[in-house]
Amino acid sequence: MFHVKHIAPNILLINPWITDFAAYNFWIKPLGLLRIANLLRRNGFRITLVDCLDYSAKTKRYGDGKFFKTKIEKPPPLKSIPRNFSRYGIPEEILLKRFSMLEEKPDLIGIASGMTYWYPGVFKAIEIAKKVFSNIPIILGGIYATLCPEHARKHSGADIVLNGREEPEVLKLISELTSFEPRTADSEFRTCLYPAFDLYPQLNCVAIATSRGCPLKCSYCASPFLAKGFFRRDPLEVVDEIEYWTAKYGVSNIAFYDDALLMDAPRHIIPILKEIIERDIRCTFHTPNGLHIKEMGEETAGLLVRTGFKTVRLGFETSNEAMQLETGGKVDNLAFEQTVKYLKRAGYSGKEIGVYIMMGLPGQSIGEVKESVAFVKEKGARPMLVEYSPIPHTPLFEKAKRMSQFDIENEPLYQNNSILPCQWDGFTAADYRRLKEELNRV
Ligand code: SF4
Repeated sequence: MFHVKHIAPNILLINPWITDFAAYNFWIKPLGLLRIANLLRRNGFRITLVDCLDYSAKTKRYGDGKFFKTKIEKPPPLKSIPRNFSRYGIPEEILLKRFSMLEEKPDLIGIASGMTYWYPGVFKAIEIAKKVFSNIPIILGGIYATLCPEHARKHSGADIVLNGREEPEVLKLISELTSFEPRTADSEFRTCLYPAFDLYPQLNCVAIATSRGCPLKCSYCASPFLAKGFFRRDPLEVVDEIEYWTAKYGVSNIAFYDDALLMDAPRHIIPILKEIIERDIRCTFHTPNGLHIKEMGEETAGLLVRTGFKTVRLGFETSNEAMQLETGGKVDNLAFEQTVKYLKRAGYSGKEIGVYIMMGLPGQSIGEVKESVAFVKEKGARPMLVEYSPIPHTPLFEKAKRMSQFDIENEPLYQNNSILPCQWDGFTAADYRRLKEELNRV
């Protein structure tokens, strides 16, 4: 007979380390994991959070900053890359100490995952959790688990790998595994669940998503695959959340983690920004994910300044018109020029307008990247290079597979943008270094 447990199970949720050649804390928070934490909590579970990334070496004025890092052995596939490899976040001994200080053994462990090529940090967290808490089921979810489920099932050591489940399914699964009946059926999970940021011992910044997914389909982007549709929250409900974190927890920095924050601006971002002004919410805002250039209007630009958006990033990627069309047509040069004008008229300096330029796309030449850099400078904004990472389940992945010298299909470590997976004679690692140096000199 199915036995229903009445003592609330204790769930340990872990956000693992980043393992990479470089990493920077742009207000990184495990939003998915924190939403699940809140959902479980509302349904009667007891939650403990251990975020391995909640350990910065140096934090800047706006709450971003360098992670603490520990140099580690390069995984064998990356041995030939002449750069140091590190684990970013909490030192291992402190993680062990935190585990040993837990008052009771968890009934179940949930682990999140980020970029596919950060899996060594995930595996390490699983290995340690297994050693410390033997015979406790471990569930692995998140981006890596969704994009590379077979790899994760084969190599991660997790008992269950979830690829792309929504919160209610996760709740159901955890209820079954712990034989615990949830308190409520939280049908409005999409709109009413704030991520459980209050589980952090200190909170000076939070990340907010006003929407999920993106209606566009750029060939290099996994958003359409990961989010399965485009969903937006009610603007007033978003401002309620902003007010909640600022008023109740004194949060002074908020990063918007939307993929499509400006989409349908008159019905979404404009009401949000106006309401922030109306309620006199004082906070600094950041948009580390690039904003949609075609969606920026004069009114939006003015409201961004008035509400306190300090970090403005535009997703431009390339000034090459053929490439713009080939990758999905999210941007054109005229719209870019117009957007920079709007932002400058609103009060941003050229230096404050960071423009992402993607480099290392399959078949892209160094000349094309240089042209894009020159174009952005000429229009008076600041070019910021972003290395292309081939992501499974994106349309461009097939082309990347053909053009890469690495086995990007079977080894996620080769999807790391730092190694320039699609470098070729027309775009070498040396070209890249020279271009970066040139940009840093200016
Ligand atoms: S517009 Fe941005 S989020 Fe949307 S598909 Fe393109 S790159 Fe991805």
